[in-house]
Amino acid sequence: MTDWLEERGTERLKAAGDLVAALRDAPLGDPTALELWNDVSLALADASSVASLLAAVHPDPDVVARAERIEIETSGFATDLHLDREVFDRLSALDPDALDDGGRRVLTDALRTFRRSGVDRDEETREQVRELDQQLTELGQRFSRVIREGRRTTRVTAEALAGLPADFVEAHPADADGYVEISTDYPDTHPFLAYAHDRDARLAVARTFYDLGHPDNDEVLRELLDLRHRRARLLDYEDWPSFDAEVKMIGSGPAIAEFVDRISDAAADAGRRDLGVLLERAAQDGVEEIDLASSRYYLEAVKREHHGVDAQQVRRYFAFDRVHDGLLAVTARLFGVTYERVEAPVWHEDVTSFDVLLDGEPLGRIHLDLHPRASKYNHAAQFTLVPGVRGRQLPEGVLVCNFPRGLMEHRDVVTLFHEFGHLMHHTLAGRQDWVRFSGVSTEWDFVEAPSQMLEEWAWDADVLRTFATDAEGEPIPADLVARMREAEEFGKAFLVRTQMFYAALSYYFHLERPADLAARMLELYDAYSLVRPLPDTHFYAGFGHLEGYSSGYYTYMWSLVIAKDLFSAFDPAALFAPEVATRYRDAVLAPGGSADAADLVADFLGRPYDTRAFEAWLGR
Ligand SMILES: [Zn+2]
Repeated sequence: MTDWLEERGTERLKAAGDLVAALRDAPLGDPTALELWNDVSLALADASSVASLLAAVHPDPDVVARAERIEIETSGFATDLHLDREVFDRLSALDPDALDDGGRRVLTDALRTFRRSGVDRDEETREQVRELDQQLTELGQRFSRVIREGRRTTRVTAEALAGLPADFVEAHPADADGYVEISTDYPDTHPFLAYAHDRDARLAVARTFYDLGHPDNDEVLRELLDLRHRRARLLDYEDWPSFDAEVKMIGSGPAIAEFVDRISDAAADAGRRDLGVLLERAAQDGVEEIDLASSRYYLEAVKREHHGVDAQQVRRYFAFDRVHDGLLAVTARLFGVTYERVEAPVWHEDVTSFDVLLDGEPLGRIHLDLHPRASKYNHAAQFTLVPGVRGRQLPEGVLVCNFPRGLMEHRDVVTLFHEFGHLMHHTLAGRQDWVRFSGVSTEWDFVEAPSQMLEEWAWDADVLRTFATDAEGEPIPADLVARMREAEEFGKAFLVRTQMFYAALSYYFHLERPADLAARMLELYDAYSLVRPLPDTHFYAGFGHLEGYSSGYYTYMWSLVIAKDLFSAFDPAALFAPEVATRYRDAVLAPGGSADAADLVADFLGRPYDTRAFEAWLGR
């Protein structure tokens, strides 16, 4: 196991260094430079993959520490590489017309990455870019740190816990004066806002939560927005969103504004209908508006009262072992692959490994690490262990999740299907000549679409019947699945409007760098959200995604629009019909990043993607 870290980590990083030296020595115009570039990228990808995986999952703290060191080294290596003028010169001296399509695409992509690092600018500009990048990293970390460490609490009476689940109440005993503290951590605030009957207590908790990071982060955010703008202008981009969107499917800054408005309009009627239902329900309690203190509470109330789904009743059908086997059976049938259990060297006894075969040929290997344990990565994600390159190495991918060993919630089942979608994408797209395009390396705003689409199979009554059976072997009833779907879907247009408010804020703050952040936020609430803000609160100061997503918060909805369009090609009554499933596999997944996502999707659909399927789903 630790051999991996040595062979695929340390050794490969060393190899990357030797390959860069060889690339620097290559004569200008030498066509082998591009092969060398691919070798450098492959060595780096190997090293960073094994390091990020083991840092997240290995039970031995010494291995984790070594893996983290290699992670830092590989990322520093990549930064230096993209500022290496000699390497850039070797690549930019190549004649694109002498290359095949794949070679041209790799070259274009590499040169763009170099230019975005400022490698081709004068020394002064390069120095400024380097400085700005460093300041931006620090500011971003500071913004997140203020949120992380700025945890606040709200004191409410013990009676205000009425409506919350018993385990929540137990975990929040009253102090001597009969008060309870609710912190701004998600596991505290989210259930409280969703279930506490006491409107005034919800208001107090919401006021604290939506003011997290204020006022400290106001100044940090202003500087962050300012420096991002300067970073973009330095390389002659119009503004930060245009710089950021250049490498995404959406392509340009203004296209983000158009997308946000189009989706917001599409959700307007259904969103107002949802709001009407919420207001009607709130009126029964004498509450007259749906604000940040009430929106979650009434969404939950309507789901519960109108679509009564008992979570305990649902869990009976989702024993982990059956879900696991069912997932493999469903995906084998859908993608025409077979799985063969293998004993591979792994990092923990919980991990199971399978070879994936297509027409009897090995396609790659997957490892499933699905249960929680101490100090393991605590979300759900797909990790690359080995990127696949045709004729050189088969892809290996890993699912890292934290599911119970017994009965699962249905939402866990959906998550499992979602993450497995990334794993299939990684495996099926592992036969590229160029490592840059292997696996899930498509545009960042497309990468969720195949996974969002695979979630549909976890919501289909016929599919669920094949594995969701209770202890007596009774399959889950179709009418229960129908009610689960209704509950899930209530309020979707209302929530899409909230998402578009977040997306608009992330875009317009970067575009305009408003002097009065709070005033601009309120305007955007009015324009996009159907939820009323609370007076004198400052949501943006605690909106952590402004660090990672910067101006691109639209991406999740963007890929959902495409996922709905992709799914429209399938017949809901025949989800396994082989012709369309095979075409999807070969046209959309197998090419990885070797073509623009828009072209792959158009190839599959026989037309460019559009928003019709998404709009139909919204209005349903
Ligand atoms: Zn995902």
